[in-house]
Amino acid sequence: MTSCAHLDTVRLTRLPESVLGCEECLATGGKWLHLRICLECGRVGCCDDSPNRHARAHAGSSAHPLIRSLEPGEDWSWCFIDNVALLIPGVQGETRIPPSPLG
Ligand SMILES: [Zn+2]
Ligand SMILES: [Zn+2]
Ligand SMILES: [Zn+2]
Repeated sequence: MTSCAHLDTVRLTRLPESVLGCEECLATGGKWLHLRICLECGRVGCCDDSPNRHARAHAGSSAHPLIRSLEPGEDWSWCFIDNVALLIPGVQGETRIPPSPLG
């Protein structure tokens, strides 16, 4: 059961084959722990355990509510408005990611 009312914002149906890291961290020299991708525009950001929490920052500034984990073996998504984890079966693919700069 999901209590997220934002599934109609999902535009990303196929994950990229690979990404280089958190886009904002790469641009600013920051370091990320885990990677998340915005399911509305595809922007790659970093998790809440990363120093700069760029995935959450993007959700706040863009009003794009849903992200999905890009970590290997993880297929959960998260809604920043409802604060709920959910599985979105319409999003296909698996993304190759580099190791975290934080180890
Ligand atoms: Zn929601
Ligand atoms: Zn970041
Ligand atoms: Zn977005």
